[in-house]
Amino acid sequence: MHELSIVTSIVESVTESLAAQPGLNPGARVLEVRLRVGALASVVVESLEFCWGIAAEGTPVEGARLVVKVLPVVVYCADCALDAELEGVQSFRCPRCGRPSHDLRQGRELEIEAIEIDDGVDQAETKKEKEIA
Ligand SMILES: [Zn+2]
Repeated sequence: MHELSIVTSIVESVTESLAAQPGLNPGARVLEVRLRVGALASVVVESLEFCWGIAAEGTPVEGARLVVKVLPVVVYCADCALDAELEGVQSFRCPRCGRPSHDLRQGRELEIEAIEIDDGVDQAETKKEKEIA
């Protein structure tokens, strides 16, 4: 599945960035991972969310919440000299003057916006949650 390979690489990249943080408590865990996904990124958000738990299982990211922010398509209209946000992905026309534009400024993103980490100060709660899982 396409989305599973995407979330797997996200989990890997979050795990790597955790390892790269100097002085991070070994008990630290990831609470939330926020993604920015463009409307043209050809991913199904529901599938990303569905695959998230599978990909995160057994990694330091397990139990973290995945929050996906979908970004609308934005094209640059030379006639209006502005970036115009499109309502859909069917028609690449400036919503203001109606001229076609293929000067894409936003819409293909697939990136991690933020990672929220519990640095392990509350160790007891961390342990308790692990037992339940
Ligand atoms: Zn225009």
